[in-house]
Amino acid sequence: MSEDLYSVVCTGKLKDGFSVEDVAAALAKTFPQLSAAQRQQIVQGNVRIKLAKSKPRAQALDVFVALDSCGVHCEIHSDALYAAAKAAAKAATTAKPAAGAKIKALPATRPEEDERWMRHALELARRAQAEGEVPVGAVVVHDGKIVGEGWNRPIALHDPSAHAEMLALRAATAKLRNYRLADCTLYVTLEPCVMCAGALTHARITRLVYGAADPKAGAVQSIYDVIANPRLNHRIDWQGGVLADECGTLLRDFFRARR
Ligand SMILES: [Zn+2]
Repeated sequence: MSEDLYSVVCTGKLKDGFSVEDVAAALAKTFPQLSAAQRQQIVQGNVRIKLAKSKPRAQALDVFVALDSCGVHCEIHSDALYAAAKAAAKAATTAKPAAGAKIKALPATRPEEDERWMRHALELARRAQAEGEVPVGAVVVHDGKIVGEGWNRPIALHDPSAHAEMLALRAATAKLRNYRLADCTLYVTLEPCVMCAGALTHARITRLVYGAADPKAGAVQSIYDVIANPRLNHRIDWQGGVLADECGTLLRDFFRARR
């Protein structure tokens, strides 16, 4: 199935405090490429929006974010991803979706799934610790499978850029034979720095999940907003604080032991 089957379905319900005019105005501003008729359809709700074939997922996310921000409840559906999601649901211990149920196209948004991969990143962080490096681990997941792993190795590799995220990105792009990582999620135990946040943006990664915030160098939202900045062309769906205590404790214990 081709990717252009992505669509955004609006339920047509407005959140409290928003009017239809608000939505139409926001859509006109965010999506000048949509015709007035298309915008009207969206405002009326219960429609499937046909998305650009060139970058349907990116556009679906844009539509979703814009609509959500101006008060329209909507869901992103992907016929192509539905089969994969159904297979993953079968493998998981959680309740199966009803037959024919539509599943959100965003990858791995279930909390238990996020924790599972973050635990894997924590294992990699411990590997860095065992090697005398600052304990940070990262893993790239695509279609429910690991396609890249990394743990901090700047000392061992004599390379200031050998952060866990960079190594995981390099492994994933090599494995997928693509310098861009569409439909991939990167899990990392610590909020990425400026370099890694920049690399994630260049890689057009779909989603970022991190554990502990980094109040000294975090570039998602703590110090800089390289990821969260709404002016960026490529927006990454991101979430912090997954297993934050475990991720943070590992780092604190490491630095305490070194003092
Ligand atoms: Zn970094």
